Amino acid sequence: MKATLRFLVVLSLLSIFLPSPLWAQRKTRNVVLIVSDGLRWQEVFTGADPNLLDEKHGGIWADPDRLRHEFWNDDPAERRKMLLPFLWGVVAKQGQIFGNQNKGSIARVTNGLAFSYPGYNEMLTGRPDARIDSNEFGPNPNTTVFEWMNQFPEFHGQVAVYATWEVFKNIFNEPRSHLVMQAGWDLPEKGSLTPRQELLNDLYRTTTRLDDEDVWDSFLQVPLLDYVKTAHPRLLFVGYGETDNWAHSGRYDLVLESAHQFDQFTRQLWETMQAMPEYHDQTTFIITTDHGRGSGLEEWKEHGVEERGSENIWIAVLGPDSDALGERENTATVTQSQIAATVAGLLGKDFHHQFPDTAASLASVLSERLNRPAPAAVDSGASRR
Ligand SMILES: [Zn+2]
Repeated sequence: MKATLRFLVVLSLLSIFLPSPLWAQRKTRNVVLIVSDGLRWQEVFTGADPNLLDEKHGGIWADPDRLRHEFWNDDPAERRKMLLPFLWGVVAKQGQIFGNQNKGSIARVTNGLAFSYPGYNEMLTGRPDARIDSNEFGPNPNTTVFEWMNQFPEFHGQVAVYATWEVFKNIFNEPRSHLVMQAGWDLPEKGSLTPRQELLNDLYRTTTRLDDEDVWDSFLQVPLLDYVKTAHPRLLFVGYGETDNWAHSGRYDLVLESAHQFDQFTRQLWETMQAMPEYHDQTTFIITTDHGRGSGLEEWKEHGVEERGSENIWIAVLGPDSDALGERENTATVTQSQIAATVAGLLGKDFHHQFPDTAASLASVLSERLNRPAPAAVDSGASRR
């Protein structure tokens, strides 16, 4: 008997006697990485800040009573659910969330700068890069996990970026990576258009811009859902920008509204995908932010080295390969740099092995059975010959 054949026979005999979880396969076939720019861990874990629900410090234009009706409860656990009902009602129940410093879980950036481009670079390439010290840095010299995954035949052409911020063309190095890319105010619809598509392009052309480089979150959501339904991407980045923009604008009421809306958009994407056979029970969402912000009555508006605490973030995961460990408590510190290898690992690829100076994946996100020595790997090695 050939060694390989003998090996396969032994494997199949073993499978009769060993408990089934050891033989379970990775279920994730698709990954979506979603970012709400600059959304603080404080709001994620404790909801609306009572000190900022006024005009003096929160800069609100909204009726304070209406805002409190929408977002206030004396119990922080209820309050955060009012702000982010999908995150707390679904993700934290069926998945995991890191970063509640009140419960001994720290998630942070390691780039030392705590603003957007250095953060997205760390998240997407698995390591900080000291050269990237400005949002105007230009094309990223580093390879993102998205560009790397797009080189595999089974993923090629099915890796996409839908983001409100124009700068993602540089962060993902669009001219080199050739990823599917919808970013900034670029018209989302091309070719011969339906009336609905023409209307969307009209809104892109005619709506007053708060930021010339950053389109409204709701304007992204429409082409994003259309793209998912028609193109079936296997690896997708979704970047929402309003939570950062409204904080810089000093409008705490709109920080809350846009955070709530980001949560609704995430639910809408999850439910849309779960209703499609190619995504149902085989899709993992990683949801996070690129940086934190300062705290207190003034520094909540800004972030960076000047605003202490801006390095603190949060990371949530929901999918069929991640055990339902919920709100993580008393964990080792996790870092933004671990996201790249986690994205690849969920799709069966070893980014950290390919780029050894990058961070390892978040082990606890890949469930127990996937962290054990995998018979699947032995099997494929034996049959490859
Ligand atoms: Zn910012």
